[in-house]
Amino acid sequence: MRGPGPRRRRGRIFRSSTQVIQKMSYPKLDRRRFLLGAGSLAMFAGLGHAGRTWAAPAFTAYPFSLGVASGDPWPDGFVIWTRLAPEPLAEHGGMPMLAVPVKWEIAEDARFARIVLAGEALARPELGHSVHVEVQGLKPARPYWYRFIVGGAGASPVGVVRTAPAADDLPGRVRLAVAGCQAYYQGWYDAYRHLSEEPELDAVFHYGDYIYEGPAGRNTDKFPIYDAAGNLAVERDHVGGEIYTLDDYRRRYALYKSDPDLQAAHASAAFVMSFDDHEIDNDWGGEWDQDRTPPEVFALRRFVAMQAWYENLPVRRTQFPRVDGGTRYFRRLDYGRLLRMHVLDTRSHRANQRCLDPSSARCRYEAGEPSSIMGPAQEAWLDAGLDNGARWNLIAQQVFVMPLKARGSGGEEQTWFPDKWDGYPGSRARLVKSIADRKLTNVVIATGDAHMNAIGEVPLRDDEPDGPAAATEFLATSISSNGDGGIDSANVTRFTDAGNPFLKLADNLRGYHTFDVTPDQWRADVKVMDQVQRKGGRLSTRARFVVTPDEPRLHRA
Ligand code: FE
Ligand code: CA
Repeated sequence: MRGPGPRRRRGRIFRSSTQVIQKMSYPKLDRRRFLLGAGSLAMFAGLGHAGRTWAAPAFTAYPFSLGVASGDPWPDGFVIWTRLAPEPLAEHGGMPMLAVPVKWEIAEDARFARIVLAGEALARPELGHSVHVEVQGLKPARPYWYRFIVGGAGASPVGVVRTAPAADDLPGRVRLAVAGCQAYYQGWYDAYRHLSEEPELDAVFHYGDYIYEGPAGRNTDKFPIYDAAGNLAVERDHVGGEIYTLDDYRRRYALYKSDPDLQAAHASAAFVMSFDDHEIDNDWGGEWDQDRTPPEVFALRRFVAMQAWYENLPVRRTQFPRVDGGTRYFRRLDYGRLLRMHVLDTRSHRANQRCLDPSSARCRYEAGEPSSIMGPAQEAWLDAGLDNGARWNLIAQQVFVMPLKARGSGGEEQTWFPDKWDGYPGSRARLVKSIADRKLTNVVIATGDAHMNAIGEVPLRDDEPDGPAAATEFLATSISSNGDGGIDSANVTRFTDAGNPFLKLADNLRGYHTFDVTPDQWRADVKVMDQVQRKGGRLSTRARFVVTPDEPRLHRA
């Protein structure tokens, strides 16, 4: 334990722990009991018994090599995460096959003079020696600092995270960022370094493609990576072949999470994690991958990929991957009465995709329109969740909703995008109907996946693209996927040349978006990098849009 003086610290612990004790109905309190109580309160499902533990850990290197992270803030707490991996790319991250006790501390200040909660969790070999603590009993709408301590290795880096506002509060502002698509081998994570310096972020919504599943050696000619001095730095590449097994996925996360800029972003704010296709396999949906693998075989890959996703990210116990496949990854986060965030899973419950070319080897699909991109249960859940009194609704999801049309390479118009909402027009129509039936004008959609900025308005009717809108949509570009890019490229002009009157901005730059949400306006800043293939890229604000809650229209500011 650290702090300026034991008496003062004990007093603080004692006072704040009273709330915990009341919740747990403990008749009496001493400090040791409080620590155990808080630990068990926050203890993760399945972590009850220690099993074989490493009593006196002797690590070969600093075990907090993958940093720390926090996630899914609620008014009284959040998740804190770390994973012990003294040798990130070695077998088992360089850890013995033993459980390791890890202490954790939550403080009201960066120096840990005022520790308000502390406890102990187990880093288990079954879970890749990851630690998830679901902290409760804190005050709303304020920052907390956290760290982990393990015997024989000292303390982890320190992270900071803000609790959400109280449920009945109307906060003056909530500040979010949106990021994703971070192909390690196609660029540096300087955008994440800049994101880590954004002031007072309440959360970062990650729309997915946190890792990519492909083998080493891809795209090194197309996307050469240079260090800050301009020398070819070829070591920024995947390791090994395409990933299939749990150990493969764990090692891929370890590679990505070794990046100091990504670690800085996680340490600076809570992440609200979702996932898209590349966490498992390109363009997968429901039970199907892109290679016509039998569904019962693909299900095994999907399960181990989601286990590794869980192990490596700061998500709550409700996102624990269940062997029966019943995990619900979609969920809601409320920011008082200002904002309700609906985090969607547009991959797990999809109907099978429809093929553009029925003769294609990838054409796995029966004729007719696929029924749903979310599945009926999630559609009903979203519809019911839109019935609320919040000033704003944010639908935080993966693939674009707008009915974008594009020119093909031969100038022909592409008929639809089978992997996006465009491939599931019934789902899109039902979403628009949910919004229209409730006369909601305050729906903002955050999207990723396309490795471009694309900001527009979702029309009420697909066949009336310049008609009234149902929602605004901010498709945030990639952190690094597709390399440096540029303002104009074939990837962008194929959309801008195809009409799409509802599309107000498109480019092929890298970066992220920020949302400054107040009761009266939603301000979105489109932040872009001048380069990502060479280290040291600079960030600028390319465009700013304002939306008011009474009309789903984009205004340039
Ligand atoms: Fe991507
Ligand atoms: Ca994707």
